[in-house]
Amino acid sequence: KLTLGIETSCDETSAAVLRGTRELLSCVIATQIPIHQKYGGVVPEIASRNHILSILPVVEQALAEAGTELAEIDQIAVTYGPGLVGALLVGVSAAKSLAFSLGVPLIGVNHLEGHIFANFLAAEELTPPFMALVVSGGHTALVDVADYETFRQMGRTRDDAAGEAFDKGARVMGLPYPGGPEIDKLAREGNPTAIDFPRALAREGNYEFSFSGLKSAVLNYINSEQMKGHELNKADIAASFQSAVVEVLVHKAFEAIHEAGRDTLVLAGGVAANKSLETRLRMAATAEGIRYLYPPLRLCTDNAAMIACRGAYQATAGKYSDLYLNAVPGLDFQ
Ligand code: ATP
Ligand code: MG
Ligand code: FE
Repeated sequence: KLTLGIETSCDETSAAVLRGTRELLSCVIATQIPIHQKYGGVVPEIASRNHILSILPVVEQALAEAGTELAEIDQIAVTYGPGLVGALLVGVSAAKSLAFSLGVPLIGVNHLEGHIFANFLAAEELTPPFMALVVSGGHTALVDVADYETFRQMGRTRDDAAGEAFDKGARVMGLPYPGGPEIDKLAREGNPTAIDFPRALAREGNYEFSFSGLKSAVLNYINSEQMKGHELNKADIAASFQSAVVEVLVHKAFEAIHEAGRDTLVLAGGVAANKSLETRLRMAATAEGIRYLYPPLRLCTDNAAMIACRGAYQATAGKYSDLYLNAVPGLDFQ
């Protein structure tokens, strides 16, 4: 069976063709990052307009790269939430039109479940159960994946997501959007123990996160240093900031995995691209005898391959959508 996946939840227009549940034939991603960069963040209206311009060429390219055509597609999987409503609607409308005209089933996919399923494309041997640490631009959550259709969210952020914290922290430091990769790069030359930024909600047995205080802490630090006439060491700020985020994520991920009694941890979402997070999770996993997996960079950030994969599994469980499928901007797990 061939699944066409479509993803337009934020600022990436993407289409992918998948055979079965894990054999990726193509994945095309048109990113709008350069377009939004001059505004310092994603402008929803501009995102929707660009999705409209890109969606059909991106679908056509994905089909061409897979060496197939629309007539060969057996089902269509599309992100219907969470995300920007106008952006989601472009993908959902395209998917519904294609499904209707081809007479094939439509599968509405939760974008966050998609991020987790990116791991199945990367690791052939991975099967549930496992613990997933989802760290993206808009979400931070620990999700216990019991089987392909059963997800239990053990905790999530009360305010900012990890990626959002990186982006806001970078902004107060005067770095360009998106801030995650910038801080990651800068932090490699800095001292992570130079500044003691707060570790919020670090206490035991609590799987909730809070990152909004961190941005204010960075801002306060910068202001007070400048008041004192000190030269700012941006690499130290970046490294210390990153360490505050990463430490809490790693600590809670391992508490959750022990409580749920799982032996495997998978990382998902755009922040999975962070080198320090990857390294520290690996170290902790080795020390505690936990299997640890994370998707390659191109599957960490938004892409339609992960949506096609999640959709294909939903189809095997008989979870299809009808043509009334609508965008749900605030969709959560299950
Ligand atoms: P969501 O999936 O919650 O709807 P999103 O799709 O916008 O949000 P992703 O595309 O999964 O989020 O991830 C983008 C986020 O990842 C941005 O906040 C970006 O700063 C962050 N990010 C990307 N690379 C890195 C990195 N190397 N270090 C830290 N953060 C990073
Ligand atoms: Mg994105
Ligand atoms: Fe995402």
